[in-house]
This record gives sequence, structure tokens and C-alpha cells, in this order.
Amino acid sequence: MARYDYDLFVIGAGSGGVRAARIAAEHGARVGICEESRVGGTCVIRGCIPKKLLVYASHFARDFEDARAYGWGPTASKFDWSQLIDNKNREIDRLNGIYLSLLSGAGVDLVETRGMLEDAHTIRLGARSITADKILIAVGGWPWMPDIPGIEHAISSNEALELRTRPDHIVIVGGGYIAVEFAGIFHGLGVETAEMIRAEHLLNGFDDDLREELGAQMRADGIEIVNRANPIAIEKTGAGYRVTADTGRIIETDLVMFATGRHPNTAGLGLEAVGVKTDRKGAVAVDANSRSSVENIYAIGDVTNRLALTPVAIREGHAFADTVFGGKPWQADHADVPTAVFSQPPIGTAGLTEAAARAQHGTVDIYKSRFRPLKHTLTGRNEFTLMKLVVDPANGRVLGAHMIGADAPEIAQGLGIAIKMGATKAQFDATVGIHPTAAEEFVTMRTHA
Ligand code: NDP
Repeated sequence: MARYDYDLFVIGAGSGGVRAARIAAEHGARVGICEESRVGGTCVIRGCIPKKLLVYASHFARDFEDARAYGWGPTASKFDWSQLIDNKNREIDRLNGIYLSLLSGAGVDLVETRGMLEDAHTIRLGARSITADKILIAVGGWPWMPDIPGIEHAISSNEALELRTRPDHIVIVGGGYIAVEFAGIFHGLGVETAEMIRAEHLLNGFDDDLREELGAQMRADGIEIVNRANPIAIEKTGAGYRVTADTGRIIETDLVMFATGRHPNTAGLGLEAVGVKTDRKGAVAVDANSRSSVENIYAIGDVTNRLALTPVAIREGHAFADTVFGGKPWQADHADVPTAVFSQPPIGTAGLTEAAARAQHGTVDIYKSRFRPLKHTLTGRNEFTLMKLVVDPANGRVLGAHMIGADAPEIAQGLGIAIKMGATKAQFDATVGIHPTAAEEFVTMRTHA
């Protein structure tokens, strides 16, 4: 008789939890998983995937305009918001089905309810409890909003993805990934958009040149960026809402969305009683093997607040399963993780920002190129591409590669490989460009600033 019901029980069936459960089961472990919402987690159900579908939808607005410069007559017809949401939901249902069959195909037991720790080996699942040798916490994060008067009127990205009608005007608070992505979505879909940020520039933590360029281009596009402003109150008015900032600025709007960060979903999980240590934000503290302060309890993904990115959570989950159940120990590597922001124009970035590189390496060489993409020579659209390489002059290594402009997320993946391999500027230069592309600029930048 086995001592526990399961060898592994996973709490949370998002991208990371599902990967860990499947791989552990393939290694022969008896695995169960629970999920209180829908299998697939933030990325599939209410994050990356539906967001990107909406980015595609919104981009058609400029594509229709640009088409005229290429000889097309008026092309934009009417836009049906609820059809977009229905189509998007159908795709999310399909992906949810794939995740469900991945779990059942791997022989993982799914319990569709919330899980809570009773002790280090026992999980309460509704009316019953089960036991497991190892427990993996993969419950992700949830939108966080500051506690200001009227905050109950604000929506988060969760609700923004489910709106049934188009507002005429929206105020989006925050300057991070989610805020800039949704500002582009709403603006492209014909919503008058204001983004309120407390800093001078958008996207804290990204390379400063990209931050400034994105702000300038969003403004030129017609998005109002209200910087150095903190919302202090939201009031319901007859027609909509009134947002008051600490600067005295008042904005009347139809909808208020907050994208002011996400916090780990650990409240009410029973972690404290079991002795699992968390940090100030409630994130589970883990070592490089994703092991918590309790020997048989592990955590991966956004709940650990390391790098809140889906591919990182998937790697952490895979490494955990191989290490603990497959006899193949390895650790997820958090260095030089490339990332993209699906703003309009989008951003792709790999390696260190100029500021971080200067802090770590002292002097750095900077190569930059800013140009109007070929496509817009005909359209006249005031959209620019900016590319930048940060190079260590001591050994020629490319420490960072950054881009804002069409296709930047697709281009950044290849740059991520080069940086991971330790490529030098000379090796970039020795690579023949693909002409005519924007990407070729990365191998033709000759003089540094
Ligand atoms: P971010 O941490 O990226 O941004 C939060 C924003 O809210 C910042 O601009 C921050 O300002 C601001 N903010 C925080 N607190 C307050 C406050 N009290 N008042 C006013 N503004 C405030 O969080 P997001 O919610 O945008 O996204 C969460 C995470 O999800 C990201 O960090 C990313 O890891 C992941 N993600 C990744 C995506 C991708 O890969 N494309 C897409 C979407 C999300 P300040 O900068 O001044 O602190």
C-alpha cells in the first residue's frame, strides 16, 4: 500500500502546473492536479493568448488605412466587438480542451476545485482531503489594485477581455506590460484612450531609448499619456466615471481599467500554518530547484515572483518534474530571458538594458539605428523602428539587443539565442543581412555613439 494517495499533487493547472504534472506522470509518478477556475491558467484563459488575439484585431485599423497607399480603395467596414469576443472565446475553449486532454492523456487526475493545504502532505479539495508525497504550488498571480476611494468601479485585464460592448473612452492606470498592451488594443479598436502613469515614462525596467520611443509613438498615434500622475479617486457619474489624479487633473470616462501589477495568489492557501515562507508580496520563497522552506513542498511560476513569464513557468515546472521524478536534475535558467511587449509598435528585447550594462560593466559601446520602415515610405505613417545593441568593449560581447518596431517580438527570439551563446559584435557583423528587412540593421550597425 502506498503511503500517500499521490506521489505528486499540483495546486493550479496553468501552463507551469500542467507541464510539471504531465512530465512527472510520464516519469511514472501518480499525479493529481486541482484547478478552481479553468485549466490553462492566466496565459491561456485570461492573458497572453486572448490578449494577442485582441492585438491582431486592433491592428487592422492601421492596416486598412495603410492599404490605401498601396492602391486599395476604402477597406474598413464595420467592426463588431461582440463577434470578436465570441470568436476569441471559441479559441480559448479549444485551447482549454487541448490542455484537458493533455492531462488525461498523461494519466493525471484532475479535480476541478480549489485546493488548500491542511498539513505538509494533505490537501483539502472541497469536502474531501487527499494526501501526497510531494506538493507543487502553481497557483499563479492575480491583478492587484491600490486601495483608493472608488476602486470597486475599476476593471482589470480579466474583465477587459470579456467586455460585451465598446466603450467610447477609457482610462488605463499603469505603465507596465499589460497597460501599454491594452492601451494599444483599445485605441486601435476606436476607443479614445488615456493612460495614466506615475513615472515619467512607460515600461519601467526596459531600455530607456525604447521607453521614450514608445511613449512618443503612442502619443503621435493619438493615445493620451498622462505622466507623473497618481489616481486618488474614482467616482461614478451619471454617464460613466470621473477619475481624479493627485495633480488635480480630472478625466471623465466610460471605463476605468487598472493594470498596476499582479500579486501571487497565495491568500487562503494555508501556507503559513504549514510553514511555507512567503515574501512581503505573498510570493513563495524558493531555492534554485523551486523547493520552498518545507522540504516536500515546491512552487513554480508567477506565485514565486521570479520572472512572471509563461515560458519561464513552463521551464521551472519541467525542471522540477525531471529533477524530482525523472532522475535528471536541471535548473531553470533565469539569465538573459528575451521578452516582448505587444504594444503598438511592439517591443522585443534580449539581454541587458544600457543602464543595467553600465551598472555591471562600467563603460559600454552603444550602436543605434532609427529609421522609417520601408512599408511606411508609401503610407507616410509616422512610425519609426529603433534598434539598439549594447556591447562590452572589453571583449566585444553583445550584452543587450533591443528593438521597437514591426515584428520586434519575432526578431527578438533569434537575438535571444545569439546573446545566450555569448555572441560578439564582430560575429553579428560577420553575419550577412537579409535584404530588404528591418532585422538586417542588427548586422549592419557600424559606428557606435
Ligand atoms: P507591471 O509590473 O509590468 O507594471 C505595473 C505598472 O503599474 C507599473 O507601471 C507600475 O508603476 C504601476 N503601478 C504599480 N503600483 C501602482 C500604484 N499604486 N499606483 C499607480 N501605478 C502603479 O505589471 P503588469 O500588471 O503590467 O503585468 C504583470 C506581469 O505580467 C508583468 O511584469 C509581466 O511579467 C507579465 N506580463 C507579460 C506580458 C508579455 O510577456 N508580453 C504581457 C502581460 C503581462 P512603476 O513602474 O512606476 O512601478
